[in-house]
Amino acid sequence: MPNTALTWNTALLYPAPDSPELEADLGSFEQLAADFRDTYFERISTLDNTALLSAIREYEALQTRMSKPFCYAHLLFAADSGNETNRALSQRCSELGSKLSQQLLFFDLELMELNDERFDEFRSLPDASAYLHFMEGIRKFCPHTLKENEERLLTRKDLTGVRAFTKLFDELSASFSYQIELDGEQKTLTGEELLSLLHHTSPDVRFRAMTIFLERHGENGIVYNSVFNNMALDHGQEMELRQYKTPIQPTNIGNEIPDEAVEHLMSVTESNYGLAQEYFRIKAGMLKVDKLRNCDIYAPVAEAERTYTFEEARSLVVESYREYQPEFGDIVDAFFAERRVDVLPRTGKSGGAFAMGISPDVPPFLLLNYTGTLRDLATIAHEAGHGLHFVISQKQSMLNYHAPLPLAETASVFGEMLLTRRLLDNEQDPDVRRSLLCAKIEDIIATTFRQTVLTRFELRLHNERTTGLLSNDRIAELWLEENGKLYGESVEMIPAYRWGWSYISHFIHSRFYCYSYTFAELLVLALFQKYREDGDAFKPGYHALLESGGALSPADTARLAGIDITDSGFWQKGYDVLAGLIEELKLIA
Ligand SMILES: [Zn+2]
Repeated sequence: MPNTALTWNTALLYPAPDSPELEADLGSFEQLAADFRDTYFERISTLDNTALLSAIREYEALQTRMSKPFCYAHLLFAADSGNETNRALSQRCSELGSKLSQQLLFFDLELMELNDERFDEFRSLPDASAYLHFMEGIRKFCPHTLKENEERLLTRKDLTGVRAFTKLFDELSASFSYQIELDGEQKTLTGEELLSLLHHTSPDVRFRAMTIFLERHGENGIVYNSVFNNMALDHGQEMELRQYKTPIQPTNIGNEIPDEAVEHLMSVTESNYGLAQEYFRIKAGMLKVDKLRNCDIYAPVAEAERTYTFEEARSLVVESYREYQPEFGDIVDAFFAERRVDVLPRTGKSGGAFAMGISPDVPPFLLLNYTGTLRDLATIAHEAGHGLHFVISQKQSMLNYHAPLPLAETASVFGEMLLTRRLLDNEQDPDVRRSLLCAKIEDIIATTFRQTVLTRFELRLHNERTTGLLSNDRIAELWLEENGKLYGESVEMIPAYRWGWSYISHFIHSRFYCYSYTFAELLVLALFQKYREDGDAFKPGYHALLESGGALSPADTARLAGIDITDSGFWQKGYDVLAGLIEELKLIA
């Protein structure tokens, strides 16, 4: 049995998966959605301003009610996807969710079809201002939207199509456990535990850990090949149906960032790959090897790696938030005190980490896979930042609750910076300071350069799938080529890395999400720089940024904290901060 103090208490949402409360909620939605449809179907354009506003509010209330049981099902599944009850509930919610979105689809479509004159009239209503960004967000997709019955059909067939492949990917990846020999002893580890060995002091352990992890995926190459090819084919067909010019275009429209700005972000990043290569050479020197292998990138630079008990980690994270602002510390502390965090890795539990914002009236939940490394400590700060963002934006209503995607990583990455600074400020030992600096630089490399590699690979995969099936050899070729651009002559990729693409769930779950990390990291470096320069004067603007949730566009949200993301020199500034960190490291390396 897992240690219950370190598992989350989902009873805060519902007493149990078979509880009458959950049944009552799930059982009511089809009728509620049908009533909503009966009232408004084919009537949206005939409503006057006040009636339109109340329709939006009714729709919003429905979304708020639905999110809790669906999130509950997702949390149970993430905590133990091998459990039959959890699997059944998750499947039931996915099928119900699909039915509900088919029923409610008309609403978005009819809002989209309101002519500009009618929309401008609505815009003049003072109470409408809260929903303008939401409406504009929908209306942007107008040129790419099909007729209602076609949209319903697509949603319906997705269940056995693209969403079934996503589930297969999740279940297969979560089912793996790994055998590895450590100190003469045969051990069985989860994927998270195995990958944490990339921080091991022994070069041989690091090599074997990465190889075993990737080869296990390679053994299932037939499945991964099918999942990736079908995901890309499915998207390609949608692109054609919806008349998108490029595979990344729908993501950019959703992100409200022009295609050219995304391209600019990536090309500025690529022109700075030399910084990463410089760091890898310094690191090779610190490890006393001629050349780094990619399984060595996260190798510890100190004799013995510093590890942190979970209690230590928790208090370090809470205190670093508290130091910035006491209220932030209280909010983060509550996640742990109220048992809304699932801490330790287990077989059947989903890998990685996430924070789930449910709705403005329900506090967020966090999933971790804590193994005690410095990286895991940073992950707590990261997910706590997401949680904090969800709590502070609770002032918004449901349709404005979630931050626009490119800003979704702001509070999390900012939180990591707060932690790093606290650790650096309080640490005297030069060995530990060097480790901290390396960890921060590696982290920036992972969230900027690596995400650009991933996005370039993803683009090529989608583009090439439009001309036919990709073999695993071809996928590996694309993968190694894009990685090779980043590593240059400074890093050698190990043979099993040809499977490096297969486990990255963003490719499957949130297409082209990866460049949002680059965007966020560079934005946060700029914000943090501003905080260091302006001190307390910075705080109200940053608070306003978090508080606005998804009520405004990314550009308008960033402007609240005094940042202009349309300024073309903006991205390079972030890399200048990175160059500064590398210089600082050179002094103590
Ligand atoms: Zn995140």
